[in-house]
Amino acid sequence: MKFVKTIIGSHPKFQKPKPDKEPYLEIAEFFYDTIQGEGINLGQPAAFLRVQHCTQNCWWCDTKEVWRAGNPYTFEELWTLIDQTDLVNKLRSGQHLILTGGSPMKQQKGLTLFLQAFVERYGFKPFTEIENECTLMPDPEFARLIDVWNNSPKLKHSGNPDKLRYQPVIIKHLSSLDNAWFKFVVAQHEDWDEIEEFFLKPGLIKRNQIILMPLGGTREGLHRIRNTVVEIAVRESVRYSSREHIELWDKKTGV
Ligand code: SF4
Repeated sequence: MKFVKTIIGSHPKFQKPKPDKEPYLEIAEFFYDTIQGEGINLGQPAAFLRVQHCTQNCWWCDTKEVWRAGNPYTFEELWTLIDQTDLVNKLRSGQHLILTGGSPMKQQKGLTLFLQAFVERYGFKPFTEIENECTLMPDPEFARLIDVWNNSPKLKHSGNPDKLRYQPVIIKHLSSLDNAWFKFVVAQHEDWDEIEEFFLKPGLIKRNQIILMPLGGTREGLHRIRNTVVEIAVRESVRYSSREHIELWDKKTGV
């Protein structure tokens, strides 16, 4: 789709050296004039800043090839790139800035400094959402800059070791933050039992924070499972979200 604008494209083979000193961000891709594809703000016009690296290795991850690559950028380099576009105007007029990955939480220190420097330079803070795999505790300073928490704890079917993917203390803390949602990728009926046993019964999250989404990295995959996921969502009185970026663009990334 031609309306999506790229600031930093995915460059698997392009390797810049790390700057001598911090701060900098390790970025996989950066694009805007698209929409939030899933969750509570599905359909919202948005810019995506996708950082490198992740704490998890979900077997079905549909962006792994992208966040495993990327390059370090100093803030000066980012201002130069940003100022060549109309991103700032778009953010000022309401596009959300979505921090995604990989794991933005792994770079929360750099992202805190980046957002603070952005405010200083452009005079406003973009409405900021974060995609979060829920395994690292947010610093209070970073948490204050985030307007929407799109938390997505990984279930057993992700293939990650339990100790790596399930952090009850962190999940409970995230649940207490304003505008915190919990998106679960669901592949089968049994996944609901796991959500109930490990998240609802111990009181880590609230039922009205739950959003169920179908597993699938392609349109075809989503369509195979989505009716089942809607059925579970309706039965359990929780929200359902499609994954609209896959419905629109199938396997394509950077959109
Ligand atoms: S946590 Fe998210 S980005 Fe990381 S491997 Fe899993 S699906 Fe991919």
